[in-house]
Amino acid sequence: MAAAVVDAHTHLFGPDVVRGREALLGREPWFGALYANPKAALAGETDLLAAMDEAGVETAVACGFPWSDPGRCRAENDVLAEASQRGGGRVAWLASVSPKHGPGAAQEAARAFALGASGLGELNADGQGFDLADPAALAPVALACIDADRPLLLHASEPLGHAYPGKGTATPDKLLAFVGAFPDLRVVLAHWGGGLPFYELMPEVAAACANVWYDTAASTYLYRPAVFRAVLDVVGPAKVLWGSDYPVLGMERFLRRSRDEAGVRADEADALFGGNARRVYALPERAGVPS
Ligand SMILES: [Zn+2]
Repeated sequence: MAAAVVDAHTHLFGPDVVRGREALLGREPWFGALYANPKAALAGETDLLAAMDEAGVETAVACGFPWSDPGRCRAENDVLAEASQRGGGRVAWLASVSPKHGPGAAQEAARAFALGASGLGELNADGQGFDLADPAALAPVALACIDADRPLLLHASEPLGHAYPGKGTATPDKLLAFVGAFPDLRVVLAHWGGGLPFYELMPEVAAACANVWYDTAASTYLYRPAVFRAVLDVVGPAKVLWGSDYPVLGMERFLRRSRDEAGVRADEADALFGGNARRVYALPERAGVPS
């Protein structure tokens, strides 16, 4: 029997954001860039749980959004904490903080960890106006994670290929500068790290990325299914977390395609589809759960 699946990268919003979408478009420019299009879905708690049931996903790691406004971060962190409590362990969550606010961001991180957040993320350099290559700008947030032994999930961008809303400029060179500045910080890089795994063929890059993991969020918008095999062969099956980016991708369909079309070997599947996420985000095992 396969182990219970964890979707390591999903997003959910509180009812204030879903209902107040229009008003937020102008106040939060990055939110506006992604969600001005009314077809861009905003999922709430019940939507996420329904998608998990449909896909047979046991646990989801839910992120909010990389808000600029620290008050919005705080309010949506409370939404995530409550959803997690109601979910009885099925929904883990990552807190959003705005690194531009320095010590205030670190305080919010500590508050969120006390409320049960499994880490921070998905933070976004372009969306939140911070420079990944400037360690001083990120030190309060990075140190808050290291102190609490929690990981940080960062959005990552491909330096080439097609443009899309939300792509940004968090490219492998900047990501490597960031992880090099904080070697004790566990970092998960979304969207296959913008291509950074391929540079782990360089021994010095692999050494610098010893505390880095990659997730598969939004994979089908970016790469052919062969990306799974290519990255697993370079960085090994312990460093890749399966995540959909739900609701960007449909969870059930992406899970099916990841299992059937991506060339994942049977001996890699438990790690990729849940074990790695449980370890990196320190998620509790749930006893007695059928899978
Ligand atoms: Zn992202």
